[in-house]
Amino acid sequence: MALLEIADLSVSFPTQDGLVKAVDHVSLKIREGRKVGLIGETGCGKTVLGMAIVRLLQSTARIKGRIAYRGRDLLLMKEGEMRRLRGREIAMILQNPTTSLNPVLKVGDQIAEAIRLHLEKSREEALNLAVKMLEEVHMPDPARRARQYPHELSGGMRERVLIAMALACRPSFIIADEPTKGLDAKTKMQIIDLIKGATQEKSLMMITHDLGVAGQICDQIAVMYAGEILEWGSSEEILSDPCHPYTRGFINSHPSRGLVPIPGSSPSLIDFPSGCKFHPRCALATDICKTIHPEMKALEEEHSVRCHLCT
Ligand code: SF4
Repeated sequence: MALLEIADLSVSFPTQDGLVKAVDHVSLKIREGRKVGLIGETGCGKTVLGMAIVRLLQSTARIKGRIAYRGRDLLLMKEGEMRRLRGREIAMILQNPTTSLNPVLKVGDQIAEAIRLHLEKSREEALNLAVKMLEEVHMPDPARRARQYPHELSGGMRERVLIAMALACRPSFIIADEPTKGLDAKTKMQIIDLIKGATQEKSLMMITHDLGVAGQICDQIAVMYAGEILEWGSSEEILSDPCHPYTRGFINSHPSRGLVPIPGSSPSLIDFPSGCKFHPRCALATDICKTIHPEMKALEEEHSVRCHLCT
């Protein structure tokens, strides 16, 4: 049984301009111990998918489909049960530490609060554990840093606080949303090493627009575009022998591969193009691409793709 099985998941948000379809019929399985990278351009639905798993989406979200964790549908769980599971079993390293941390609470208190939500600890025990967690994520001078406010820490240190908070209750499954975004190259490498080390025995979903990060941490990659998954496979296969024209374009747009941009821009999530959603930007599009939406098909046991041309 997969640890996490997402089946035909759609998430949309009503707006004045129409229904924004952020996640569109996504199916994905994550096996125990696997590290899966969810990659794609900003606004393709990656974060919404992650937030749907931990059920932290705004109340106006319309969600259809199934998200089964160890066989149990998270979408059908009562809020109290979900609250107990969140943090204890499934934890999310939220994007943007500047806005995710409470600016008026010392970081040690914030970690301790997360600990006390799930573990029976006194305030003092939780604070000691918070310092230990900061030590585990290689925070310099952890006891002093625990007594500081988020604005007194650097961006890399704040990211370490979020990671410490997510790991504090020893969850089995971690969702990390763009944990290296906005960090300088040196700090980025340190955070990658930290996540690699801290999640060795765990399952991970790494949401990132950075292929380099996914390649270094993940053993599988799912490529998202306009709310759907276009290609999925082992990291090695996806990075060295991708089939989908979008995946190839996305790889070539990475600084290490020549920074060649994909022409055009992502489609509106309110009004998708007909047929293949990528066809207005695809140099290989043919007539069929403009009218028939390609199904996901397996090229190999561990490689599937949604493109009429890939066989
Ligand atoms: Fe391009 Fe057609 Fe494949 Fe879509 S289905 S990616 S338009 S070749």
